[in-house]
Amino acid sequence: MELETQKNRLIGELRQHGISERVLEAMRRIPRHLFVPEQELRDAYADYPLPIGWGQTISAPHMVAIMCDLLDIQDGMSILEIGAGSGYHAAVMGVLAGSGHVYTVEVIAPLASFARENLKKAGITNVTVVVEYGSLGLPRFAPYDRISVAAASPEILDTLTGQLKSNGKLVIPVGKNFQELYLVTKTNGLKKEAKGGVVFVPLVGKKGFPY
Ligand code: SAH
Repeated sequence: MELETQKNRLIGELRQHGISERVLEAMRRIPRHLFVPEQELRDAYADYPLPIGWGQTISAPHMVAIMCDLLDIQDGMSILEIGAGSGYHAAVMGVLAGSGHVYTVEVIAPLASFARENLKKAGITNVTVVVEYGSLGLPRFAPYDRISVAAASPEILDTLTGQLKSNGKLVIPVGKNFQELYLVTKTNGLKKEAKGGVVFVPLVGKKGFPY
C-alpha cells in the first residue's frame, strides 16, 4: 500500500479514537515516514512505537495525538518538549503552534542530529532542537505556554512547572516501568489530572532515573 494511503488509514483510525480534527489535520501534514529509520519504513504508519536507535523509540501515533489534544496547543504558543527523539512529535506540535515556536531538548546528541535532519526534510522551520538534560527544563527560552514530556519521570518536576506561564499546561508520564500520564494546569496552584496508563522510555540524568 502506498505511504499516503497508509497515512490516511491511520488518520481514520485515530479519528475513531476521538482525536480532534485539528490534531488530525496537523498529523496529516507531517509525513511520519520521514522520521523513522530506513529499515522501519514499512511500519511508518502503524499505530505503535518504533525503534530509532540508541535504545530509544518514536512514540506511537495515538500517544502523540492524545498528548497534543490534552495540551490544547494554539497558534502563536511557545512550547517546550523534553525528549526530541526522531523529532516527529515536535513537528506535529510545530504545525499546531503555527506562528509560535517549539524548543525540543534531547540528551543523545546523534539523535538530536537525526531529529534536525528529519525536521528539515519535512520542511518544518519553527522547531529548534537543543542538546541538553531536559529534566531541568530549558530556562533560556522560558516561560512556556505548554510543556510536553516524552520520557517517564519519577515525579511531576518542579523545574518544569516553574517554567510554565500562568494558565500554562504540562503533560508528563510519571512512574518507573509503567506510568500514569498527568495533565498539569498552572492556575493559582497546580491542578493535576491523571489521564490514564502509558509506557515511555525513562527520563535520564538529573531529576530523572539513574542510567
Ligand atoms: N518525542 C520523540 C520520542 C521520544 S523518546 C519522537 O517523536 O520521536 C524519549 C527521548 O527522550 C529519547 O530520545 C531519550 O534520549 C530522551 N531523553 C531521556 N532523558 C532525557 C533528558 N533528561 N533530557 C532530554 N532528553 C531525554
